[in-house]
Amino acid sequence: MSKHTQDIQHIDAQHHLHPFTNTSALNAKGARIIEKAQGVYIWDSEGKKMLDGMAGLWCVNMGYGRKELADAAYKQMQTLPYYNTFFQTSHEQAALLAKEIASVTPHDLNHIFFANSGSEAIDTIMRLVRHYWAVKGKPYRNIIIARDNAYHGSTLAGASLGGMGGMHKQGAPLVPGIEHIRQPYWYGEGGDMSEEEFGLACAKALEDRILEVGPDNVACFIGEPIQGAGGVIVPPANYWGEIQKICDKYDILLAADEVICGFGRTGNWFGSDTFGIKPDIISMAKGLSSGYLPIAAVAVGSRITDALMAHDDDFHHGYTYSGHPVSAAVALENIRLMKQENIVDYVANDIGPYFQSELRKRLGDHPLVGNIVGTGLIAGIALVKNKAPKEFFGDDINIGLICRDHCFENGLIMRATGSRMVLSPPLIISHAEVDELLDKAVLCFDLTLKSIS
Ligand SMILES: *Cc1c(COP(=O)(O)O)cnc(C)c1O
Repeated sequence: MSKHTQDIQHIDAQHHLHPFTNTSALNAKGARIIEKAQGVYIWDSEGKKMLDGMAGLWCVNMGYGRKELADAAYKQMQTLPYYNTFFQTSHEQAALLAKEIASVTPHDLNHIFFANSGSEAIDTIMRLVRHYWAVKGKPYRNIIIARDNAYHGSTLAGASLGGMGGMHKQGAPLVPGIEHIRQPYWYGEGGDMSEEEFGLACAKALEDRILEVGPDNVACFIGEPIQGAGGVIVPPANYWGEIQKICDKYDILLAADEVICGFGRTGNWFGSDTFGIKPDIISMAKGLSSGYLPIAAVAVGSRITDALMAHDDDFHHGYTYSGHPVSAAVALENIRLMKQENIVDYVANDIGPYFQSELRKRLGDHPLVGNIVGTGLIAGIALVKNKAPKEFFGDDINIGLICRDHCFENGLIMRATGSRMVLSPPLIISHAEVDELLDKAVLCFDLTLKSIS
């Protein structure tokens, strides 16, 4: 270990509280220091090169080292580094970005509210849908229904809406007025049901809960088109259509959390396109600027905007950096690059299908792999103790972390969520890089198997 690395680790250990980390355990071994990145690769401070199979945290969609994005930021900083969008002002970057986002969002989601993170966008959705019902004269319609094992960010509202048990245990009491229903995780929870039966059953759980709490008390249902942080849970094909029908039947707003699925990840601009739903409101963040600067947005459909605009009052909500001009300039350039390079089409018709079929070809028969799901450039792999009859690993062995550590050692960033391994590489990944990713993955799955036998 170089002195340079040790110095940074030491300072980090003394002063830096890490997110989602047991900081004392981390400090005992020292954080991995990441120093530079290019394309789909990152390098640590020891010069070790790793293929980033996660695009950072599902966000560096256009890859690292894009000079166009750096130039857009530099140029904007010199003309207008900051101005707010409160108090009857705007600027070209926020206005143009709102228009660009509206050009790619599904359905009638044509009005854009800016935030700085996915969590803030989720808070915005929560406040906005409740405000919508208040404006409609039904302030009692304030219950929001979400799902177990959902991830909607880490602010108080995001953690409350999400369905992660560990997060619910800390920082309570949670935000009231939230209900959770079962997740559509067929491989893990489908029992003897066919995928289709299970899709219906999970959608029916929404209807049951609506009837239980009273349809006239429910504001909104929210879900990720594909659950990301929960382990890449792809719902049965009939699930979202049924959810849409139930929301329509009871006049409940449908919100899609597109923070991961948005911006090409599933082979369409948004996951809502992939599943054929028409949400009333969506959140987006990660792919919006490819992670180069923090920016997020909520796209709002006409049902909500019509009500807001007919109502003679301010919406008392916003962030100092809503529509930040430098972040907006980078996001604009990011979308321009995505369009110029036909990246969504590349994911839908070229690299996405290649990645998905090679992944199944190379790992589908591996003794540890029970099931592979995914579409476009997102995938989840269930690691099991026994394939048939299906047997999951017990709590005595953290198979995901064992596998993840082998990946790190061998130059591949792959994330573990419990016993599920997840992949979400940059959208610009080439065929040769997919091959390299899978060569490494096969090696690491073999090493994982060896570690436990
Ligand atoms: C990451 C994520 C969030 C939170 O975004 P932050 O930028 O980390 O606040 C919300 N929803 C989903 C689906 C996410 O994946």
